[in-house]
Amino acid sequence: MFMLYGNILTLAGWRHGTLHAQGGRVSQIDARPATPDDNDDVYILPGFVDLHVHGGDGANIMDGADAAVTISRMHARHGTTSLLATTVNAPHERLSVLLQALAQPISHRPHNGARFLGVHLEGPYVNPGRLGGLPNHARPAVIAELEQYMATVPVRIVTLSPEIAGHDDIIEWLAARGVRAQIGHSLGTYEEGVAALDRGAAGFTHLYNAMSPLGHRAPGMVGAALAHAEYSELIPDLIHVHPGAMKVALRAIPKLYCVTDASLATGLPDGEYDKDEGRVITKCMGGVRLADGTLAGSALTMDQALRNLVSIGLTLDDASHRLSRNPADYLGVADRGRIGTGAWADWVVLDRQLQVQQVFVEGEQVYAA
Ligand SMILES: [Zn+2]
Repeated sequence: MFMLYGNILTLAGWRHGTLHAQGGRVSQIDARPATPDDNDDVYILPGFVDLHVHGGDGANIMDGADAAVTISRMHARHGTTSLLATTVNAPHERLSVLLQALAQPISHRPHNGARFLGVHLEGPYVNPGRLGGLPNHARPAVIAELEQYMATVPVRIVTLSPEIAGHDDIIEWLAARGVRAQIGHSLGTYEEGVAALDRGAAGFTHLYNAMSPLGHRAPGMVGAALAHAEYSELIPDLIHVHPGAMKVALRAIPKLYCVTDASLATGLPDGEYDKDEGRVITKCMGGVRLADGTLAGSALTMDQALRNLVSIGLTLDDASHRLSRNPADYLGVADRGRIGTGAWADWVVLDRQLQVQQVFVEGEQVYAA
């Protein structure tokens, strides 16, 4: 049993007082309603829930279990307490072997690391004409492959393009099994997006990036998201999406949530790095790009995402919801992404400049500045 004192963002709003944990979960909140402006104490927020992470600290999830451990620890130091191991387009054989290797770090949380809630398959079932930074292994979805992947690890999200023949049935098949079918890397029209939502698609992958844009006579996939989505990802590194377009999305999509889409270059100095399959990425000025300039994931961490959201005008509690509660709700995880009695003791403690001071995962302190 232990406790923390400060300004606590609880399910019921801001409280000032003491947070108690026992057995890895919140046991008691001994605090009175107060706004953080009343005092100089630290902020205690729910740990960040990042549903789109490829790498960090030089490690690439495509390299398997050791890489996953490095990634889980690196993002934990930045306040992420749970995440999805996010794969990219690859041949079936490689994905099969990879997912078998990831089963261990997913079922057993790495020491001093964040909890993997499962896998986000970003492709390979995407439009080969809209790869963005993904490798060129796009192909139509096959149920037998998905069944095999889902028998190996908890697959929570599948990013796919709805305009590919047969994918409307795949969306329905995934939705019936509780897997979030997420629209992304798509050249689909507005109408195809609306039809996919009707079939059970649940969200959109890095809204605006690698999807047909909004035109006022051809609203595209972006238009389908802005007009109809309940949930969508957004990368708030202020490079992938202009702050003005972020504000459009914040007005339009009630449960918009933020992801890092972090690449292996996250946490490394500027320079050139070997991404995968001989492809070189360059990290420079906060962005990560392929040789032709295409963005290839990000160098973002969730604590920087929080500071970025606040810098464009969000309140701290609104920013927190978009980094913790909304993504947890999207996955249907009711005991993470929030601070309330009975929820996991997943917390990030921040100073008044929103720099991470301490991080707790399931009641274990995994980082102290
Ligand atoms: Zn990605």
